[in-house]
Amino acid sequence: MKDHGKLGIESLCVHAGQHPDELYGGVSVPIYQSSTFAFESAAQGAARFSGADDGYKYTRLGNPTTSALEECVAQLEGGGQGLATASGMAAVSTVYLTFLGAGAHMVSTDSVYGPSRTLAERELSRFGVETTYVDTTDPANVARAIRPSTKLVYLETPGNPTLAISDIAACARIAHQAGALLVVDNTFCSPLLQRPLDLGADIVLHSMTKYLNGHSDVVAGILVTRQPDLLTRMKRVLVQVGGTIDPHQAWLVLRGIKTLALRVRAAEQTARRLAQDLATHPAVAWVRYPGLPSHPQHELAKTQMNGFGSMISFELKGGVEAGRLLMDSVRLCVLAVSLGGVETLIQHPASMTHASMGPEARRAAGITDGLVRLSVGIETYEDLRADLWQALDRVVTATTPQGEAQVGV
Ligand SMILES: *Cc1c(COP(=O)(O)O)cnc(C)c1O
Repeated sequence: MKDHGKLGIESLCVHAGQHPDELYGGVSVPIYQSSTFAFESAAQGAARFSGADDGYKYTRLGNPTTSALEECVAQLEGGGQGLATASGMAAVSTVYLTFLGAGAHMVSTDSVYGPSRTLAERELSRFGVETTYVDTTDPANVARAIRPSTKLVYLETPGNPTLAISDIAACARIAHQAGALLVVDNTFCSPLLQRPLDLGADIVLHSMTKYLNGHSDVVAGILVTRQPDLLTRMKRVLVQVGGTIDPHQAWLVLRGIKTLALRVRAAEQTARRLAQDLATHPAVAWVRYPGLPSHPQHELAKTQMNGFGSMISFELKGGVEAGRLLMDSVRLCVLAVSLGGVETLIQHPASMTHASMGPEARRAAGITDGLVRLSVGIETYEDLRADLWQALDRVVTATTPQGEAQVGV
């Protein structure tokens, strides 16, 4: 494989892990849509299974299209090796299953992606794994939660959907002092905006469903590490559990990554302007965006991230009802979960993704009743602003007393 280590990140998006195909010179990586690979002889088959020959055997164990994607994302994360998975949750569960077992303990960000928390609380707990959820924006909370049995410190930064930012380097030091590994879910940033391995993380994971693929048409995940022994252990678990990515999905993600830098930067520019605008609308109590000085970890965001991203959270003064009305009033913004696609998506956690958490756990994780999450896409800024404005104006009209009378007419 070519060493692309000195190229800029835009060049890596286009070229890393990819080279014209050896058979016909196809510029795009071929899709090896094959479950199995023929051996030339019994001796070659034996060599492949013993590891003496690193050729392909069976797609659950490895596939050339998947390998190209793994190398591409590993280079984007600054080096190391990648392990692509069928979904972001397959990456999360591979990490949990590889490094946690009976009697083990994990410290995790409290406002972590919902299913990452549910998997630990409902399923891993059945196997004797304990988890402590803390506000990881203060590294002292992480240090206090560490036990002799702590094997993993698991960060999601920015957190979901609060956009709370945790100090990766500080948490890496705490984890390593305790003999634990630091895992960072880097989905919200993509490697373009944050490179956790450079800050001391041992493993970085992505839901490639989001920014890396970027077109809302694939579910996929990946794990990246610079420590070959960790990759070997995770791969052993992944291939047994069977969370393998399909070669066609892997190719779609490779295709999506080619424009990652353009998409992420365009969305960010629009998000910065929208975040400032939203803060001025009378229906909005506050806006949380890492690029605004009002964000509690704005200074940390400036040093830890290479940009502020395109996720915005804001609180509606009218609570749950205002959230529902806003969801029913937008026309261009798409009412859907997920994030990181070219289209702007809007969602209301209290009535949607985090409804099953219950009001108390939501409050403890900082998810208030009127919290709205916006994943800004690459549409024209003026169109997005106009759509949000007409919807927010409806919220104001309906939640003021005269407005109720008007709506009733
Ligand atoms: C979506 C998401 C996941 C899970 O990924 P899937 O591809 O849906 O399995 C994990 N972490 C974060 C932060 C996510 O946004």
